[in-house]
Amino acid sequence: MARDKTKKKITDALYYKNNKQKILDKNKIYRDKNKDKVNSKKAEYRKNNRKKLLEYQLQYQKENKETVNKKNSLWKKKNKDKVSFWTRQRYYMKRGAGGKHTIEEWTDIKAKHNNTCLCCKKQEPEIKLTEDHIVPISKWKENSLNKDYGCNDIQNIQPLCLSCNASKGNKLI
Ligand SMILES: [Zn+2]
Repeated sequence: MARDKTKKKITDALYYKNNKQKILDKNKIYRDKNKDKVNSKKAEYRKNNRKKLLEYQLQYQKENKETVNKKNSLWKKKNKDKVSFWTRQRYYMKRGAGGKHTIEEWTDIKAKHNNTCLCCKKQEPEIKLTEDHIVPISKWKENSLNKDYGCNDIQNIQPLCLSCNASKGNKLI
């Protein structure tokens, strides 16, 4: 009797396991076939439950402070360039520079100029290139410049080394 019970349990578990896989597969096929539908449903769910999801996220962060912090600082360590890029972009925005550019566009501009400072012609890694606004933010605002791009758009960005950038100040070079 006891043996039968055990046997049934094992059969049930096996059945469930096989069935579970079947269900999972079925779900996956459905998801693959109806990607747009599934995605829009997900987006709708996120939209309708924004507050709940945010609360859940905050709760998770609170309960897993150490893990989250560790993960964040590890990521920051590995992506120092990205972090400082975004910090700078926020700073430009705060100073009221309109327009924006991506880190890829900045990398492209540097590559286009052979990673060379346009002013002193020194090359990375001898120097460190920094983003310079061709028309400085203050000048742009002072003159209420109105071009078909913003001050912080890539068209107004050039690579200068730190010391050239610092000595440039408010001038145009
Ligand atoms: Zn330079």
